[in-house]
Amino acid sequence: MREIHFDIIRQTVKELFLKANYIIGDDIIVKLKESVQTEESESGKVILEQIIKNNEIAKNERIAACQDTGLAVLFVKLGQEAKVVGGDFNEAINQAVREAYIEGYLRKSVVDDPLFDRKNTNDNTPAIIHLEIVPGDKIHFLVTPKGFGSENMSALKMLKPADGIEGVKEFIVETVKKAGPNPCPPIVVGVGIGGTVEKAALLAKKATLRRVGEHNKDPRYARLEKEVLEKINRLGIGPAGLGGRTTALAVNIEYFPTHIAGLPVVVNICCHAARHAEAEI
Ligand code: SF4
Repeated sequence: MREIHFDIIRQTVKELFLKANYIIGDDIIVKLKESVQTEESESGKVILEQIIKNNEIAKNERIAACQDTGLAVLFVKLGQEAKVVGGDFNEAINQAVREAYIEGYLRKSVVDDPLFDRKNTNDNTPAIIHLEIVPGDKIHFLVTPKGFGSENMSALKMLKPADGIEGVKEFIVETVKKAGPNPCPPIVVGVGIGGTVEKAALLAKKATLRRVGEHNKDPRYARLEKEVLEKINRLGIGPAGLGGRTTALAVNIEYFPTHIAGLPVVVNICCHAARHAEAEI
């Protein structure tokens, strides 16, 4: 077994959350710049340029790209030959989030009880940790600070198998249409199809983290991604919801086998502050 110390996990995850909040990925920046050229609306162009400038300032001055620094979500692949030593694995992650959000001047956005107390935990913990055990002796972290302007616009539908491809397309486009300006467009639309209710939601969240410009490896799903993206960009919502063609930068679909009687679909929306970072130790 390879031993990996609590402190290495803590330090790695802390740096990832700082990086994700300060630096928007180059895939998003490239797509935003392309969109300035293709956007037909003048106000849309201006908004896109402002977003690009905002992201440059955040990166250069190491300040949050958006005031909503999100709920800390992690997808962790834990190698079955790796042994965590020196402390509790979950606590290493929560300690990392605590330090990143306090030392990095990132807004603390978590309340302890969702319904009654709604008292701020003041350190942005607890993190939401999705763990997968994989072969090998490494640990891979993919982190995303998830803002709720866009998270709140997400939706689930348990379609009937007979609703088919058209039903899926209609649900995705309707969800984006209903969301309008609320998720801070241009958005990345993550879609999870199949599995169970919670599996579809996880797939959708993970889909938002795929690099913009990459498509599903199955050509049928890749075609569906492109077709739905075109439909969304014809809705006229545009950057910041002020009108235009650039409503979404990408539609990313992930799928999983499901039950003969079901066709679960989850749409998870990510705003233009599409923040994520990854590392392997
Ligand atoms: S939805 Fe995104 S861009 Fe809008 S306020 Fe939240 S984190 Fe910021």
